Amino acid sequence: MTMPRYWREIRQRYKGVGVECGKCGRIYFPPREVCPHCRRKSYEKMEERELSGRGKVITYTQVHEPLPEMKPMKPYIMVIVEMEEDVRVTGNLVNVDYEDVEIGMDVDVELRRLGEESPEGIIYYGYKFIPVND
Ligand SMILES: [Zn+2]
Repeated sequence: MTMPRYWREIRQRYKGVGVECGKCGRIYFPPREVCPHCRRKSYEKMEERELSGRGKVITYTQVHEPLPEMKPMKPYIMVIVEMEEDVRVTGNLVNVDYEDVEIGMDVDVELRRLGEESPEGIIYYGYKFIPVND
């Protein structure tokens, strides 16, 4: 029995599972079926690979407009994070003031539930990043 596609996708997102190309070793997140670097040659060689969940902020910005699926809220911080595996993930940075955000700061990723279309409907997930205090 195979799991419904949507559930598999949620599981992948929740655990931060990407795929690694068996030929060149590049990691892709979210997972993809073909390595754009090796192209067709690696088609059958993409292996699941769990991410460490740790990365560094490479760019950030403050956003005043809520996403369409979100309730009105105060300004929030959007970041692009380069994960340890060399993949970039876009998300929301929390637990820090905008003035204190720095390029290169260490963050941990967590899945966040953004909203739901209806009780039986689609649930939106996004990524939340939390500064690591060492
Ligand atoms: Zn490859």
